[in-house]
Amino acid sequence: MQKTNSQNEKNTRKVKAKSSAADGLRELFIDELKDIVYAERALVKALPKMAKNASEPKLVSAIEEHVKVTEGQVQRLEQIFDILGESNRGKKCDAMEGLIKEGESIMEETEAGPVRDAGIISASQKIEHYEIASYGTLAAFAKTLGEEEIAALLEATLAEEKEADVILTDSAYHSINFEAAEENDK
Ligand code: ZN
Ligand code: FE
Ligand code: FE
Ligand code: FE
Repeated sequence: MQKTNSQNEKNTRKVKAKSSAADGLRELFIDELKDIVYAERALVKALPKMAKNASEPKLVSAIEEHVKVTEGQVQRLEQIFDILGESNRGKKCDAMEGLIKEGESIMEETEAGPVRDAGIISASQKIEHYEIASYGTLAAFAKTLGEEEIAALLEATLAEEKEADVILTDSAYHSINFEAAEENDK
């Protein structure tokens, strides 16, 4: 009992800020840009493995295409850091590390073919949604800060992430999930 109470107190306590903590929206904005550039660079490395493990040619080419798009997104972010006069060094994104790890385990836990394809689509949609949330927020921050040029760059990437999500949803609904379901009947 006593233990549970003190545990609860610990979990509801206000978090103490580090000495390096952001104290304004601009600083938070830059921190989050560092997070997403780390995430995009991690994806450039992780996506080719997903493409290699996919079987359906349409899915393979959709992922391969998104690798190229992702490289462009890294460049766009580097351009943003230039505009801001900030270093483009990334800061570890725990969420993307986790999402990529989850993608790895989905591949290990599925037989290659339609079932693994369905797993890869599921993992990549989680990734795309994380990016959509991140860029949506970043574009809003940029506008609030009066950084219109940067907001436009972030919105261009946001549109690409949404497009990738739609392509993945389409390939999931057409053929791939049906084929995966048929594997069940064998
Ligand atoms: Zn992130
Ligand atoms: Fe991206
Ligand atoms: Fe993150
Ligand atoms: Fe993406």
